[in-house]
Amino acid sequence: MSQYRLTLIRGDGIGPEVTQAARIVLDATGIDFEWMVVDAGAEVMEKSGTPLPADVVEAVRTSDAAIKGPITTPAGSGIRSVNVALRQALDLYANVRPARSLRGVRSRYDHIDVVVVRENTEDLYSGIEFEKHSPKAVEAIEMLMRLSGKKIFPGSGLAVKPISSEASERIARFAFEYARCNARRKVTAVHKANILKHTDGLFLEAARQVAAEYPDIEFEDRIVDNLCMQLVQKPEVFDVLVLPNLYGDIVSDLTAGLVGGLGVAPGANIGDRNAIFEAIHGSAPRYAGQNKVNPSALILSGALLLRYLGEQEAAGRVEQAVADVIAAGQKVTYDLAPAGVAPVGTRQMAEAIAAKVAA
Ligand code: NAD
Repeated sequence: MSQYRLTLIRGDGIGPEVTQAARIVLDATGIDFEWMVVDAGAEVMEKSGTPLPADVVEAVRTSDAAIKGPITTPAGSGIRSVNVALRQALDLYANVRPARSLRGVRSRYDHIDVVVVRENTEDLYSGIEFEKHSPKAVEAIEMLMRLSGKKIFPGSGLAVKPISSEASERIARFAFEYARCNARRKVTAVHKANILKHTDGLFLEAARQVAAEYPDIEFEDRIVDNLCMQLVQKPEVFDVLVLPNLYGDIVSDLTAGLVGGLGVAPGANIGDRNAIFEAIHGSAPRYAGQNKVNPSALILSGALLLRYLGEQEAAGRVEQAVADVIAAGQKVTYDLAPAGVAPVGTRQMAEAIAAKVAA
């Protein structure tokens, strides 16, 4: 019998190529995986009437972990984001996005090692929005003006930012547990509590309370705008950052930029029972089917998957192999190839990494 059952959601655009690349590398660790390959997204919608069939959610629910390619969310099509729907269906409340400098990746900085822990279920991403002039917007505006005594222009759209003690406490606890298990020294809570007292203020209060239970981990907080400036000026002072959903989304792109961009930025969506590992980047449709893009971000997400399964040694081998292949600069994709070196394809880079993992 296999050691682990993994669901592989291929995704669309460059998804099938990068998931195949990650599979080659995970199989090269020598661990015996049983793969359940499933599809979701706009093409599936044409066949099954929904972009996220129930059997995809069920496959993830019943496997040890899942790895996922990016899925296109057509702008303005009315199709709900499969990515958001999956996180909600499985209550994957923690989005973990490590950013670590790799030699050979062109970047303005060379000693970055920061982990973003983003709350994944609430905040302005809760999906509670009202279109301007719609009857619900008109009603909500009337009610809000009455309750707050403040003026809102009648032509306003509205979005709601729910932040709860429950979700804030659980993401703060996740960040501290992550810090403890991964030998990190400090957690920084990021917020705008000076302005948003009852939402971000509540998030900060929950983080402070949880911090008191972890005297071995240093705790501090930063206002989000100040954090952005300090990340650019002195990123070495930060370690684990814990943030509400929207700031986490934005700041994790900033930290990906510090280490050289989306091609090398892994991620994980983790709940109490299930986890899905995926790169930060999207489906890059213009590169689809060209065997061209960098598979490193999803391969490094595969290393996070191995750590989640407790396979620390194999995870270390994968991370080292990615670092070595990038540093050597010979079997790398177009975005990493040094001047004068011909780039290789997605598959060839994955095979070079797999060969080092298996060696
Ligand atoms: P994108 O990340 O797909 O692409 C932006 C650019 O980044 C690309 O044109 C390319 O130049 C570069 N890039 C991305 N991945 C790369 C890789 N692996 N190697 C080398 N270069 C790479 O962002 P986008 O164009 O804003 O989004 C395209 C689609 O992806 C949208 O429909 C969006 O909704 C979706 N998306 C999905 C996810 C997900 O599934 N989790 C995440 C983000 C975006």
